[in-house]
Amino acid sequence: MASDSPIRYSIVVPFYNEQENIPPLYMKLTEVLDGIGEPYELVFVDDGSKDDSFKVLSEIYEHDRRVNLVRLRRNFGQTSALKAGFDFARGEVIISMDGDLQHDPEEIPRFLDKIEEGYDLVSGWRHHRRDHWLMRQLPSRIANWMMAKLSGIDLHDFGTTFKAYRREIIQEIQLYGELHRFIPALASSTGARIAEVPIENLERKSGRSNYGIGRTIRVFLDLIIVKFLLDYSTRPLQFFGLLGVAGAGLGSLLACFLAYEKFYLHKAIMAEHGPLMLLAVALFISGVQFFSMGLLGEIIARTYYESQNKPIYALREVKSHRKEMGDSTESPRPSGNSER
Ligand code: UDP
Ligand code: MG
Repeated sequence: MASDSPIRYSIVVPFYNEQENIPPLYMKLTEVLDGIGEPYELVFVDDGSKDDSFKVLSEIYEHDRRVNLVRLRRNFGQTSALKAGFDFARGEVIISMDGDLQHDPEEIPRFLDKIEEGYDLVSGWRHHRRDHWLMRQLPSRIANWMMAKLSGIDLHDFGTTFKAYRREIIQEIQLYGELHRFIPALASSTGARIAEVPIENLERKSGRSNYGIGRTIRVFLDLIIVKFLLDYSTRPLQFFGLLGVAGAGLGSLLACFLAYEKFYLHKAIMAEHGPLMLLAVALFISGVQFFSMGLLGEIIARTYYESQNKPIYALREVKSHRKEMGDSTESPRPSGNSER
């Protein structure tokens, strides 16, 4: 582990209108973390709260040097707030949790133990959920099941934000939209070792949840994005090309049949096979379009990876004698050890 950071772990908590929840959470956090006795920092993110959250956070900041405050200009949503916190965090291990007291700081040591065992990402698993069954639990079960199947990662619960990561893993991942739910899937694509620990899911005491049933549909859309990103982001033509070839091929076959009917058997194909002809044309055109979309995708993928110098692989470590032999050329390094 890189020794450039004296901070062992950072706790990242996003807040949106949680003024009543902040003081008790802070008390509980410091109690637990002081008990562990390793250097830590708290990264509190105010996601454009409209209540007095920022004032409350500022008061805490004033008298505790381990507290960092990141305030967003407006409400950007939980994923962006988390990402802002992750980017700011300096600990070797980063722990994220909700600021509404639904996550119990007492459970933090269990996450740290798992990281200690050598895992890169430890995810909480709400084994007894307290949320509304139809509105929250059922959709979440279906989504979790699909996510596990699609990503091939054996997790029970992808949805909770109560997680611990090694810093290099989480800072590598770009988060868009509401993709924080899919961090394990995205991380696993970079080869992260993933574990889970059962956690309690406490009831929200004050304030109210920022989400309802509308979120479910968006989660399913996100699922499609993640699946596509994981499987095809470096080779979009393989996805669109297949559809394209199938469509255009079928269309051409039909067209050949129609041509045979017309020019060989001299049938009035427009009258006899009108719908079939339309189908042939539609298939052919959409096939060609899918194919060109795939080609465009390939170009975009190249821009995406090359403009950011983004490798298409992820290194865990590199051993080489080059340095000793006086070779100073830059070689790829695992991202975790790079200076930021
Ligand atoms: N949150 C946020 N920005 C938002 C919505 C939520 O920072 O736009 C925070 C919120 O303050 C809480 C956490 O994200 O700390 C989880 O939100 P919530 O409790 O509403 O979600 P739920 O527990 O219902 O999934
Ligand atoms: Mg909550």
